[in-house]
Amino acid sequence: PAERVERWTTSTCQFCATGCGLQIGTTAGEPVMVRGNPDHPVNQGLLCQKSLHQAEVVRAEGRLGDPQLRDADGELSAVGWDRAFDELVGRLRAVIDEHGPQAVAIYNTGQLLQEEFYTLSKLARGAIKTPNLDGNPRLCMASAVTGYQRSFGSDGPPNAYADLAETDLVYLTGANLHEAHPILGGRLMARLQEGGCKLIVADPRAVQFTRLADLYLPIRPGTDVALLNAMQHVVIRDGLVDRAYLDAHTTGYDEVAALVADWTPQRAAEVCGVPAADIETAGRWFGEANATTSLWTMGINQQTQGVAAVNQMCNLHLMTGQVGRPGAGPFSLTGQPSSMDFRQAGGGGSLPGYRSLAKPEHRQQIADAWGIELEDLPEAPVAAHRIWEGIEAGDIRFLWVIGTNPAVTFPDTRWATEVLRNVETLVVQDVFETETTELADLVLPAAMWGEKAGTFTNSERRVNVLRQAVQPYGRARSDFDIFVEVGRRLGFAEMFPFATTEDAFDEFKALTEGRPCDLRGITYDRLEAEHGLQWPVPDTASPGTPRLYTEGRFNTEDGRAVLHAMDYVPPLEAPDASYPFWLNTGRVQEHWHTMTKTGRMPSVLKRSPENYVEVNPDDARRLGIRSGDRVRLRSRRGQMEVPARVTAKVAPGSLFVPMHFGPKFGSRPVNDLTGRFFDELSFQPALKHTAAALELL
Ligand code: SF4
Repeated sequence: PAERVERWTTSTCQFCATGCGLQIGTTAGEPVMVRGNPDHPVNQGLLCQKSLHQAEVVRAEGRLGDPQLRDADGELSAVGWDRAFDELVGRLRAVIDEHGPQAVAIYNTGQLLQEEFYTLSKLARGAIKTPNLDGNPRLCMASAVTGYQRSFGSDGPPNAYADLAETDLVYLTGANLHEAHPILGGRLMARLQEGGCKLIVADPRAVQFTRLADLYLPIRPGTDVALLNAMQHVVIRDGLVDRAYLDAHTTGYDEVAALVADWTPQRAAEVCGVPAADIETAGRWFGEANATTSLWTMGINQQTQGVAAVNQMCNLHLMTGQVGRPGAGPFSLTGQPSSMDFRQAGGGGSLPGYRSLAKPEHRQQIADAWGIELEDLPEAPVAAHRIWEGIEAGDIRFLWVIGTNPAVTFPDTRWATEVLRNVETLVVQDVFETETTELADLVLPAAMWGEKAGTFTNSERRVNVLRQAVQPYGRARSDFDIFVEVGRRLGFAEMFPFATTEDAFDEFKALTEGRPCDLRGITYDRLEAEHGLQWPVPDTASPGTPRLYTEGRFNTEDGRAVLHAMDYVPPLEAPDASYPFWLNTGRVQEHWHTMTKTGRMPSVLKRSPENYVEVNPDDARRLGIRSGDRVRLRSRRGQMEVPARVTAKVAPGSLFVPMHFGPKFGSRPVNDLTGRFFDELSFQPALKHTAAALELL
């Protein structure tokens, strides 16, 4: 109860990328409750159930409180930090000396703070000098990143959440807002209830918002590009193109018009499995709207044509002039809380300040800033699956996994886990015991939300601050402290002079000068007082920037956005006689990722205690399956046994399994069944759907 709280500390919810403002209540130095910040513009005091129960998890069973080292008997036992750092740095040095820095890899997360990504980037690229730096945002946002870069010249969603109050059409696709971004879902609900906009939902599964949709397009998995090409066909055929906008601000229209001329609604209907008349309606509504907002998440990104689908959505907005205006624009909803920071601070495939490894001038700017040689920086990113393949080939011998659980989340998990077992040295840094920490040679206990300070950027580019409310559990240390200490022990003390995260933030923000994500006007105090700021914020007088591209000038060399002509290519694996179902994966509202936190919140776990598969009533009848029956799911890669839930939410021939459950929570991961199929532009795995068989046990 609030009366027991001695102190309230300003923070931000660090589950999803909605970025809700909150306060952490503490008593005697312990977290006791969480409440929404009524003044925060994102959530106006509201929080969803995961966030409301966050105080339960900070000291929950399974927290890692000591570094652990695997001994000669193969057991993990507690050691002090000195010993842990000696082991880590000693093994790192030995591998680099014998095999070079390319034998080292770091696989991180979308859960760190912005300052931690920057410091890690400097450690990995500037001190260790490995080319192998990537993270789990490769599994969730890579297609949106690549799509934005190709269409607009740089990453970064152009919209604001406030657009939901000004839009007159929402195209919601591959996004289950009610489950994955509940507070944002509430804002859309409010707009719909006041009759302010129409809603089109395009999704293979009848998600909650389907019930409120004016038009529902239950498309077959992986057919978005066919649908979007047909919608462009309708827009062009019916004269709904904004020719003045196209001529002034874009290139590439003629190639797109030539390609989509063949994509009639009738042709797309056969591919997508939805009526041609509904595709006609969708295209017409999009073209006739004054301000359309498109919203998407993993349903678009996690497919082999993820980038193509993002580019086709951008095409639709560009050809109808619906970008950079209130209520209009293609809005990729980030999944993880700080996936944006991973992208803008250089946590993976880019360099800090949205700089590209492929551009010599960008590499030179960072080399100069860090006092390293241009040649120290790789010319291309190494995607996550290439790291796993490098380990398998014996080229990578040292893997440092930070804040993520690939033994449950990687595609083809049994293969991925076997690779983890075989790497010469596996260091895992996390806040809780996970399926991945169990495989480690060295475990580093990290401080979690509430126990450390820093910033992170939500889906609408709003940088939020998190103040430290309590001391870390046991001997856990913040990821930031760990990176700084490793850098110093490796002999690069001058590169890591930071006493606080704000020191690192100051160094990073100076590097954002003139970049799309200019943060120079931000201080922690401003973020607290103004409840976050949307970048760019070039100086301290700037109030932030709700919308990008308002002048029609994009971040390409010539300032013009690019429309891309991209044809439909079928998914690389589809149902057949042996594996006749489409198995879809996704989120439930109660859980986050592999349940390392939500699985330890009793109030949340009791609402969603076990894994399951949704089966359509027609298929259930044919196979003699009733709700509660245990069934076996099989794919070409693995199998799992779960109880069935018979529901018309899934279409005939389709199944749905949550992505969250793993062995620690009573189930084989659904990613045992998903395959190593990737978008060839973003290298994001197609985790959303796979061909599967179903049988009653
Ligand atoms: Fe946290 Fe996301 Fe829920 Fe907001 S919607 S309270 S950020 S989990």
